[in-house]
Amino acid sequence: MYKAKAYAASSPSSGLASTSITRREPTEHDVQLDILFCGICHSDLHQARNEWSGMMPTVYPCVPGHEIVGRVTKVGSAVKKFKAGDLGAVGCMVDSDRTCPECKAGLEQFCPNFTLTYNFPDKHTGGVTYGGYSDSIVVDEHFVLRVPSNLDLAGTAPLLCAGITTYSPMRHWGVTKGSKVGVVGLGGLGHMAVKFGHALGAHVVVFTTSPGKKDDAIRLGADEVVISRNADEVNRHAGSFDFILDAVAAVHDINLYVNLLKRDGNLTMVGAPAEPLPVGVFGLLFRRRSFSGSLIGGIAETQEMLDFCGQHNITADVEVIPIQKINEAYERLLKSDVKYRFSIDMASLKSE
Ligand code: NAP
Ligand code: ZN
Repeated sequence: MYKAKAYAASSPSSGLASTSITRREPTEHDVQLDILFCGICHSDLHQARNEWSGMMPTVYPCVPGHEIVGRVTKVGSAVKKFKAGDLGAVGCMVDSDRTCPECKAGLEQFCPNFTLTYNFPDKHTGGVTYGGYSDSIVVDEHFVLRVPSNLDLAGTAPLLCAGITTYSPMRHWGVTKGSKVGVVGLGGLGHMAVKFGHALGAHVVVFTTSPGKKDDAIRLGADEVVISRNADEVNRHAGSFDFILDAVAAVHDINLYVNLLKRDGNLTMVGAPAEPLPVGVFGLLFRRRSFSGSLIGGIAETQEMLDFCGQHNITADVEVIPIQKINEAYERLLKSDVKYRFSIDMASLKSE
């Protein structure tokens, strides 16, 4: 065991502050990384403030962060994929059982025995896992991804959650050249969905509550932008979408979007508001529409997404901040005031 620097929440209302945590020394299959950048996902905020208490109650102290890019410092004797000095990346999962049908299908995110990167029982330490708001992390090599060498590292970190969470459902639902794709909510996830939809050749329409994001949406690759508070403007697209990805972090009217789908169109929720969303069944019956959810993506698909980003030169649009600005960043995230992901420069933790 060794001591690592970190930022942790000590209660739902405490905010985050500097602390010291215990991590394991790398075992034979482990990779140890010095963390260079960590993105701030809205899930970090939900979890730090115990907003998902019904589903995943928070254990304090809680060290969030699951959009990690780092430099390998040490590897175990059986590690094949990495050596000291390489870049490596870690997303939302750090372990799974590798034997269940989900793992065998490369869908570790659905393994009943997986381990999330933070706030999850840690099989090695007996405590809970601690995430990327830290100077280092130790992870089994299966859950460490290779980073394409041409990408900016601060903008690469958010690909590990915002990237894969939007790429995976788009691939699953067959988004391709000529598809009409809606993206609801232009935040960290939403702006990645726009980039992927555009790169896959789809006609992308952004639905935003923020009129000030209109020009950005077009710059990011949207073909059209609709201000979602204007129902007439929204309803002009009735019955026309193949696929809609909803990445909103709060309760909102989902039926507005169901009605925009074509026959057999699908609306996938990736946003995770704590409260249930009422769905009008008639919207689904007519035109055989479907409403579903999606959770991050498997490890092989995460690597595929990173390689796709390397080929298409795609990274997140980030505002780089020092860790000391974390509490301010959370408040701004709640006001949709970030273009479009905060990425923490972890060198700032050295001064703590
Ligand atoms: P984010 O950066 O805060 O973006 C959320 C966006 O939703 C905002 O930028 C805003 O976009 C829109 N929005 C916020 N409040 C709204 C409201 N009251 N009504 C309508 N729109 C609203 O958050 P994120 O990091 O992208 O995460 C989004 C959600 O996905 C969170 O709930 C997070 O926990 C969840 N998530 C799920 C997965 C998964 O695997 N399924 C993975 C990661 C994150 P506009 O300004 O454009 O309206
Ligand atoms: Zn996330």
